[in-house]
Amino acid sequence: MSNTIIRIKELKREFTVGSELVRALKGVDVSINKNEYVAMMGPSGSGKSTLMNLLGCLDTPTSGAYNLNGTDVSSLEDNDLARIRNKEIGFIFQTYNLLPVYSVYENVLFPLLLNGSKEKDARERVMNIVSKVGLSDQIKKKPSQLSGGQCQRVAIARALVKDPLLILADEPTANLDSKNSLQILELMSDLNEQYKAAVVFSTHDEKVTRYVRREVGLEDGEIISDKQ
Ligand code: ADP
Ligand code: MG
Repeated sequence: MSNTIIRIKELKREFTVGSELVRALKGVDVSINKNEYVAMMGPSGSGKSTLMNLLGCLDTPTSGAYNLNGTDVSSLEDNDLARIRNKEIGFIFQTYNLLPVYSVYENVLFPLLLNGSKEKDARERVMNIVSKVGLSDQIKKKPSQLSGGQCQRVAIARALVKDPLLILADEPTANLDSKNSLQILELMSDLNEQYKAAVVFSTHDEKVTRYVRREVGLEDGEIISDKQ
């Protein structure tokens, strides 16, 4: 079995805005191995979110190939893409995107219920992951009662709970101060060693590379460096 989980070739994404063509990705090639921990680094507008959306099967490329764990996803229909997203990909967002009326426990449980698990079978797994992100004593709280760093820990638990192949985090530290940012990246790095998922995150902040094993540089829709 191949050790590669992501293989993209000549990936392009263009947007038409009025009469203008915006070339957000100009033909990107990259391969990522199972269980790798990779930062996509680049200034605002360099194409990070466009690339993360394509990797997450939330968007389809203008041209080019994307193979995810042996499946050519660039040719799949929307419902197949949704199935892959639900089963194999955990998402972490800059704005956490937690469900505000639900508790920490319910937010982390939610993806398992969506995938058809029963609560009584999922409970132990949820409690275990919440403890791994250090929130066992906050389990009944709602997102509004938590700090930004705590909210992002909930989002990390929610992304991990279904044991995905891939975790994608688009600027996960952009709303956090530098102390919390480093803690979140350290946590993601620790969990990357404990779980099977490859972790790909984007950032424009060069201070956060301390916990990164591989750093891919993006500029103007192109990969300009790849340091391991
Ligand atoms: P980053 O996340 O690195 O800030 P983005 O991927 O969001 O960069 O954007 C890359 C380029 O593509 C920018 O010029 C942006 O304006 C453009 N772009 C991104 N999404 C769209 C869209 N939906 N429609 C039009 N242009 C877009
Ligand atoms: Mg972005």
